[in-house]
Amino acid sequence: MWGRGRLCYSPRPRAARRPLIQSRLFHYHNPMALMLYNTLGRSLREFTPIKTGEAGFYGCGPTVYNYAHIGNLRAYVTHDILCKTLRRSGLNVTHVMNVTDVGHLSGDNDEGEDKMVKSAEERGKSVLEIADFYTRAFFHDTERLNIARPTVVCKATEHIGDMIALIQRIEARGWTYQAGGNLYYDISKFPYYGELAGLRLDSLKTGARTEVDTNKRNGGDFVLWFTKSKFENQALVWDSPWGRGYPGWHIECSAMSMKYLSEQFDIHAGGIDHIQIHHTNEIAQSEAATGKHPWVKYWVHNEFLVLDKGKMSKSKGGFITLQTLVDAGYDPLDYRYFLLGGHYRNQIQFSYESMDGARNSRKSLIKEMASLARKAGGIERQDKGQAAGGEQAYTAHFNKALEDDLNTPKALAALRTMLKDNAIPPAAALAAAFDMDSVLGLSLRESCEKALAAETAAPSISADSGLTAEVEALIAERAAAKKARDFAKADAIRAALKGRGIVLEDTPTGTVWKKV
Ligand code: AMP
Ligand code: ZN
Repeated sequence: MWGRGRLCYSPRPRAARRPLIQSRLFHYHNPMALMLYNTLGRSLREFTPIKTGEAGFYGCGPTVYNYAHIGNLRAYVTHDILCKTLRRSGLNVTHVMNVTDVGHLSGDNDEGEDKMVKSAEERGKSVLEIADFYTRAFFHDTERLNIARPTVVCKATEHIGDMIALIQRIEARGWTYQAGGNLYYDISKFPYYGELAGLRLDSLKTGARTEVDTNKRNGGDFVLWFTKSKFENQALVWDSPWGRGYPGWHIECSAMSMKYLSEQFDIHAGGIDHIQIHHTNEIAQSEAATGKHPWVKYWVHNEFLVLDKGKMSKSKGGFITLQTLVDAGYDPLDYRYFLLGGHYRNQIQFSYESMDGARNSRKSLIKEMASLARKAGGIERQDKGQAAGGEQAYTAHFNKALEDDLNTPKALAALRTMLKDNAIPPAAALAAAFDMDSVLGLSLRESCEKALAAETAAPSISADSGLTAEVEALIAERAAAKKARDFAKADAIRAALKGRGIVLEDTPTGTVWKKV
């Protein structure tokens, strides 16, 4: 049972061991019923937090040996949408993100080179300098993408003691062994090993996955602590009960998530590439140490962003960063908009043509909103736009879309359709759009303000050059509104023009204007 779970080694069939239907632990006051696709059990499940009103969320963070590529950033936009959706539903979310600055090899299964050391050598810097530089670059990117800063950001190198303590708990249960100078986790001790990924333990015991490490008793065993190993040039080493060395990659996420959340928590996320090894090993370590399962209630995995040539990879080079897009003339929010246009569980193919589409679409969105703001007589008043009824139905569609496993394309469609619905008063539509932006994160208010300011400053509207076609059209629209006795609309147009420095006066011979 949750909270009191013990590891159970009964020989029951796998499917029966762990009930896949999570019990509803409490009835949350908010009517939002968020359905999330849980990789553990491979099905949509209603999200019910372990602790009433709270949500503990851990998302695997960056390995800071290079810039994040736009595929990595997809993962963090997904985490952001998830956190913001949880917060919108009234939950107090603790979002923890690790920063990997030690121990991550180019292969997730203890093979290849050390990513940090290799990068430092290539660039002629120390590992810590590299980590510091790319950590800053990472948060610069996430800020530009309106990704909220996690509640806790924790560096692996600052939590070595927590990792050692956790490994000792695993060792105390007898689930480790030392060989070739390293301390290994013995997967044969853990009957649920591979459950997340749908892997069969018996095949993992015998099969070697990639490179053969003759120290390993089972092909799937992994290193908890390196001492003497092939990485003699490891820059950062610490004393430990197993000798001077450094941690394996997976242990940091187990140690830090449990330190800042608890021994069992609500949601763990990452890209789909982490299911098979990294998250599988995190579960193995954590449940071995605590004796409780499931360690994490919901596992959320985003699909990949791919290039037409295939996978985007940081270590193989040739990757696209956010700055690449900025240099090509895109706004970082064009990329966020591009991502929102796909469901996080579907692969998205990146192309500059699609980016152009996203940019145009975001531009037209802002234009529509600016036009509504003009009709409403400005933007400032819209915060408390009175609920008029129509827009509430769209807000409900929007919420429903998010509840449906974070369906951002549908949510975006609800926003776009609302803005085109003439039955909704502009002020109410704007207020609803700003509210939706609490999750979309497109800076709609700021973009709208900027668009209005740019119009005011537009040189084309000057007394000398006469009225632009747009302003002429607005005056005609106002005349039509007056004729239809829609004085509210007529007044709104007059106010919008006034906001742009153009004053209208109705005279017996018609409407005249002057610039003030
Ligand atoms: P890393 O910095 O390599 O540890 O990766 C950071 C995050 O990005 C992880 O959650 C990965 O699963 C995820 N990720 C890596 N490549 C991609 C990609 N092409 N598309 C989406 N997510 C990715
Ligand atoms: Zn992790």
